[in-house]
Amino acid sequence: MNFPSKLIENAVNEMSKLPGIGKKTALRLVLHLLKREEEATLTLAESLTQMRTQIQYCRQCHNIADTETCAICASRSRDRSVVCVVEDTRDVLAIENTAQYKGLYHVLGGIISPLEGVGPADLHIDSLLRRLPESTIQEVILALSPTMEGDTTAFYLTKKLKPFNLKISTIARGIPVGGELEYADEISLGRSILSRTAYDV
Ligand code: ZN
Repeated sequence: MNFPSKLIENAVNEMSKLPGIGKKTALRLVLHLLKREEEATLTLAESLTQMRTQIQYCRQCHNIADTETCAICASRSRDRSVVCVVEDTRDVLAIENTAQYKGLYHVLGGIISPLEGVGPADLHIDSLLRRLPESTIQEVILALSPTMEGDTTAFYLTKKLKPFNLKISTIARGIPVGGELEYADEISLGRSILSRTAYDV
């Protein structure tokens, strides 16, 4: 692709590094940003900079937050007897959108995947285990995708959670096998949380 300007070329190259954005789409977006009011484009750039430099992760559950403790952990109306373990923040959003769950979360920050070199030590598992003894948590829901990696992670967590004598449940029902949690529709996901089952190994 030939560019009339090195500045345009740089912007297109950066934009096309984003997932799902090819060079053509990137060029269209860059030209659009150029044509808009300068103020609007600078506001976009500023919000991206702020998002990237100021975002925090909740020190309790590792969910994305604007403060040290996320809004869910800080809320007085959440049920503190139950914690839902998920792969990442997108799953928290998906479950929150069902409006069926009022407990707390724990974001692992990934899933055990030997193929991709992700082991238990790369995930927020230790902080979950540290969190349990000094809390009011009585039940752990494993809300992981029903994939091989999700099953491996659930199996590993169950072994680690056993000594705590908690109720361990899983949301397998209602989610298509092999499906990703964040793509499940809200009704199925909501139902699968309500009809969770005890996790047996
Ligand atoms: Zn939190």
